[in-house]
Amino acid sequence: MACFRCPGCGYTYDESQGDAHEGYPPGTPFEDLPEDFVCPDCAVREKGDFERARE
Ligand SMILES: [Zn+2]
Repeated sequence: MACFRCPGCGYTYDESQGDAHEGYPPGTPFEDLPEDFVCPDCAVREKGDFERARE
């Protein structure tokens, strides 16, 4: 699974971990996040701003 990083604050969404805090269970692909997804850390960057990152 892949990781996606917010270019603004460095928050990383790890598909294998999901983000339980935001209601995304482990294994949720980044592409399945809602289109209006915004970075949970900075709330500035949107889904399309995220960069694919390798662990
Ligand atoms: Zn951010």
